Amino acid sequence: MLTIGVLALQGDFAEHEAILERLGARPRQVRLPADLIGLDGLIIPGGESTTITRLMAMYGLLQPIRDFAALRPVWGTCAGAIVMAKHATDLDRETLQLMDIDVERNAFGRQLDSFETDLPFQEIHGKPVHAIFIRAPLIRSVGEGVVVLAKLDSDEIVAARQGRMLATSFHPELTDDDRVHRYFLSLADGNGAVK
Ligand code: GLN
Repeated sequence: MLTIGVLALQGDFAEHEAILERLGARPRQVRLPADLIGLDGLIIPGGESTTITRLMAMYGLLQPIRDFAALRPVWGTCAGAIVMAKHATDLDRETLQLMDIDVERNAFGRQLDSFETDLPFQEIHGKPVHAIFIRAPLIRSVGEGVVVLAKLDSDEIVAARQGRMLATSFHPELTDDDRVHRYFLSLADGNGAVK
């Protein structure tokens, strides 16, 4: 059984935990560096990236999560994707800088604060993935070695993977479609399916 950490400083970590449990994994809330020991993967939830980055620095989690990410997969959803990025607009705090992506916070403006759509998702078979966007970021550019996994009709990037690091602008934890969680578990399983 896989034990998957969910960063539980702020945001919708409980929704991730519920899906992980449903899929037969063991979720563990991460608040302190010691909570990372023995995990097979880590999820950084949606919420408010300014708050999450501030608390991460306060609890001394930045370097321990970077060290963890050298060995195990990490996935950020929405605010979590911002926290993963090398650079994010309008954020004056240190991110984890785990992925070579440039992210624009609150990229959809006030009119389109939140919306839902179906997205074809590379590396996930079957019908498009149902995606909920809430004050979401966009991935404005990706570096070499980053695979684009999903784009909006407008061609804007909303999901990417670098090695076993994953970033999604949207919230798979808020839908019944658990395929992105399954996909992450397959990365954590180390079965070599995805490199
Ligand atoms: N707007 C938030 C931020 O910039 C992200 C919103 C979310 O996670 N739903 O951090």
